[in-house]
Amino acid sequence: HRALSTDRPLVDALGITELPAVHLLQPNGTHYSLHTEKRLRFFFTSLLKTLPGVQRKTHTNSSVLNPLKGALSPPLNTQPWRDFDRSLVYAADLESALHYLFRVELASHNSLEGEELHTFKDLVTLLAKLYPGGGAVVKLMETLSDWLLSLPLQKIPYQAVLDLVDNKMKISGVFLGADLRWVGCQGSAPGFRGYPCALWTLFHVLSVSRQATPSALRHTALEAEPAPVLNVMRRYIRTFFGCEECGKNFEKAASSDSAVGIKSPEEEVMWLWNQHNEVNYRLAGSLSDDPLFPKGAWPPPSLCAPCHMENRGLHSFNHQEVLNFLLHHYGETNLSRKYALEPNNSANKDASKDVADKLDGYRKADEAGAQEDHARSAEERVGASGEQGNRTLALGFNSVDMSLCLLLYVGSCVFLMLLFFFFRVRSRRWKPRPPKFAV
Ligand SMILES: Cc1cc2nc3c(=O)[nH]c(=O)nc-3n(C[C@H](O)[C@H](O)[C@H](O)COP(=O)(O)OP(=O)(O)OC[C@H]3O[C@@H](n4cnc5c(N)ncnc54)[C@H](O)[C@@H]3O)c2cc1C
Repeated sequence: HRALSTDRPLVDALGITELPAVHLLQPNGTHYSLHTEKRLRFFFTSLLKTLPGVQRKTHTNSSVLNPLKGALSPPLNTQPWRDFDRSLVYAADLESALHYLFRVELASHNSLEGEELHTFKDLVTLLAKLYPGGGAVVKLMETLSDWLLSLPLQKIPYQAVLDLVDNKMKISGVFLGADLRWVGCQGSAPGFRGYPCALWTLFHVLSVSRQATPSALRHTALEAEPAPVLNVMRRYIRTFFGCEECGKNFEKAASSDSAVGIKSPEEEVMWLWNQHNEVNYRLAGSLSDDPLFPKGAWPPPSLCAPCHMENRGLHSFNHQEVLNFLLHHYGETNLSRKYALEPNNSANKDASKDVADKLDGYRKADEAGAQEDHARSAEERVGASGEQGNRTLALGFNSVDMSLCLLLYVGSCVFLMLLFFFFRVRSRRWKPRPPKFAV
């Protein structure tokens, strides 16, 4: 109910002395005032959205139907709810996104070549250099990056990548949990949030890490890029991301003048934030909008009150405050390892087996989607990777070992042939000539 200062009976009954104000009336007749940092319209609407049961009407317009459905459906939610703090970023989300990216999304490509391989190499470089914390994920990305750069192959079988991600070579300190553990990206029901949420989070984290360590990409192929995170993100979304419509929308934004004009790491951080908000505004109230996590202008006042201003009654952002907030929020010190899988975590021992079960979940959730076949084949591949024996070649060699053997074999053949020709030429030169007798 909206009351004006002229509604004296109500204002007096509630004991309201200052307006505007928000009072929560309970069904049992009790009431209390709700606190907002600033008495601004945006703060009040944000506050109202956090109340249970308060949500926008859902759009029925087809343009805002859920394009993620089928393409990126998370598995059926069989896991218990994990309590979390919205002011933190969770490594469990980032690592679950990487698990999905490497073991599900990429798995729909039998091999990587051309533009796909180029994009993949750059993504691995970005992760090796900018992923925060320097832990097992960074070691894995460094190993993958070294391997990709040392083998100048035109085409790489996906299986070889998977063998490295699964650390079949048992390199110490290399690890990527094979489990989806959404924390800050949990959805209130199956089909909400999960991977797309964590992918956004991952690229925000990488953009902030690049701002914090501007020299990290020195001596890499991305060194000269003015906006390396956006550049790789754009190509990844276009080439691999399971939601085609999202890819098209993002491509349009990333080729705009505002993106092309990015010159500094700070501008890159802010461009990504602004673009993410544009997507939020477009999707607010759509079928992909989780009622428990309604989309809208972000960060909300509860996370950053100084980020918001009002100009002649219109809401606007204080960009300097937003930048400060983003650098802190997505910075290394704000990354929580709560719920993250660790290499010796007992839960991880069963992780490979769990993958097969989870994939069953993805398959059911994907049944309605237009990209069902694509998603299913990806899942089946990962299911197979859970059963290690299927993918390990004879005598316990995996395909990385086999490709190295092949390289060694070809190298040895060439070397032997060179030796052969060398000695043949020499032996001809040294052949004793018949003595010439002078009479
Ligand atoms: C590149 C990309 C493009 C997409 N395009 C589309 C599309 O065109 N159509 C479509 O239906 N879906 C699209 N999606 C999916 C969609 O944007 C959401 O990711 C998905 O609906 C899940 O939403 P969510 O509520 O979990 O929050 P998300 O929007 O995924 O946000 C994840 C988290 O990031 C933080 N966050 C929110 N806004 C910002 C911001 N402005 N800056 C920094 N951090 C922020 C919040 O903590 C939030 O929980 C896209 C996803 C990606 C990665």
